[in-house]
Amino acid sequence: MRYLRSIALSLALALGLTACSGTPADPDTAEEHVQFLAMDTAMTLSVYGERRSAALQAAEHQIQDLEAQLSRTEPDSAVSRLNEAGTLEAGERAEDLLPLLEAAERYCRETGGAFDITVAPVVAAWGFAGGNGYHVPSPAELESLLERVDGTAVKIEGRTVTLSPGQSVDLGGIAKGYAADKLANIFRECETPRAMASLGGNVLAWGNRPDGMPWRVGVQDPARPGDQGSFAGILNLENAFAVTSGGYQRYFEQDGKRYHHIIDPATGYPASSGLTSVTVVAGCAGEQDLPGTMCDALSTTFFVLGEALALDFWSAWTGVPFDLVLITEDGRVVITEGLAESFTLDEGSGYTLEIVS
Ligand code: ADP
Ligand code: MG
Repeated sequence: MRYLRSIALSLALALGLTACSGTPADPDTAEEHVQFLAMDTAMTLSVYGERRSAALQAAEHQIQDLEAQLSRTEPDSAVSRLNEAGTLEAGERAEDLLPLLEAAERYCRETGGAFDITVAPVVAAWGFAGGNGYHVPSPAELESLLERVDGTAVKIEGRTVTLSPGQSVDLGGIAKGYAADKLANIFRECETPRAMASLGGNVLAWGNRPDGMPWRVGVQDPARPGDQGSFAGILNLENAFAVTSGGYQRYFEQDGKRYHHIIDPATGYPASSGLTSVTVVAGCAGEQDLPGTMCDALSTTFFVLGEALALDFWSAWTGVPFDLVLITEDGRVVITEGLAESFTLDEGSGYTLEIVS
């Protein structure tokens, strides 16, 4: 059995940042950073500007607050209390639960159930919810667990959330994107000129680099996951979210087969759609629509749906615009046209590039 938690995209920082020594005269190019573990992953925040200390502190505090509300393993979190009791009045220590559940319900509907936070009992049966070790569930076990999976059955009335009998929720596929949205709000309030946040596969590239160039965000090569310097390509981004989902980040192996943590709610098995990685990119504007949350929900979704359905979804979508970097099992990197100028394929990666319009 093998457990690997690699941090997709986090090396973007190494490409984009240089350490600060001394205090530069211009606060817009003066940086402070912090690294910590939260939401089951390593996070790095790097913030510039006059109010960088305040922004950094608020950002770290925000993430810890979200973790305290949303963790599935912390017994006192809002999510654990909801899962335990089947109902919860979203008050103190649960302020972010309703917006997240509303977003989750929306993406469940929009994706025909490919994104579904009520897949939680199935995720837990495979052992991906922490605690009990990994396990390949029997077909009968999965069949009975799948009967409870229906994200559209989660009821929100006023501030009260109610699950159907036997249901539980897992916000692991959407919470870090929501956290990135909250960080963008903090940077907006603090008039932060530039910042880079890397929340385990969820990147927020705020403003541009101190040298005036776009932030360089590496898209990890899923074929070389242990090698953090191996990119399929680089995204040059300003004021954008970039969220990657892949089966190479978290998995176990049993009897020579690999099982990863993104579950197809239609089957109960780890998604197997021909994609090895999905990155969803969207601009930071339109914050009321939670674009970071969207990127996170959709990256998980498209990993389940596969290339053809992801591209159909992309071209039919009328919400906040987004673009895609899809990496396929057969060695192609497929990008949508909005990234034609900002994505550079790593020539040594061996992938061929296709641009879809
Ligand atoms: P990561 O959390 O590794 O960055 P994702 O955003 O793709 O990757 O989320 C994967 C997590 O989402 C899983 O660990 C699980 O908690 C949850 N999950 C798994 N399958 C689904 C699904 N089909 N819909 C919604 N959430 C899912
Ligand atoms: Mg996700």
